[in-house]
Amino acid sequence: MIAATQSNHPLASVSQQPVADSPLNEARSRIRNAQMRITKPRIAIIESLLQHEGPVSIERIHQDIGAKVCDLVTVYRCLSAFESLGLVRRSYLHNGTCLYEVTLGNPRHYHIVCKSCGQTERVDYFSVEGMERMLQDRGYTQLSHVVEFFGICPSCQKTAPARNLAPAMPAESL
Ligand SMILES: [Zn+2]
Repeated sequence: MIAATQSNHPLASVSQQPVADSPLNEARSRIRNAQMRITKPRIAIIESLLQHEGPVSIERIHQDIGAKVCDLVTVYRCLSAFESLGLVRRSYLHNGTCLYEVTLGNPRHYHIVCKSCGQTERVDYFSVEGMERMLQDRGYTQLSHVVEFFGICPSCQKTAPARNLAPAMPAESL
């Protein structure tokens, strides 16, 4: 289900920032190449994603861009469309919350997510080609996979052990 319904707010030029060859411009041209329109919500979502170093929730993106720009459902639909364009990648928190991050200028990797504070770190990408080949041999096509690692981070081990999963915990130990 690719949402191509975003017809409001068509913008000729969205941002005045001089950003030649930036990830934002790359995103713009990929959206255009996919015959999708450059809309204010779409650009605002990409900008929000680019501001975060790690994966962020749909709610957080919506909060970033402001409720006036578009509703939560539009954010969800845009991200879904971006994912099919390969502009964003999905990942998950321990509690199943879906997160997104940009792929542009961002090589493929996995995450280790702290089950206590929710802080996310990168884990180097490793190939699962062997596994995919095995599944293809079993007759599966259009394979995809999700790999997430969960644990308790060193910082949480030092502090109160039973802290609940809190959103956007600041890196206090830096
Ligand atoms: Zn932690």
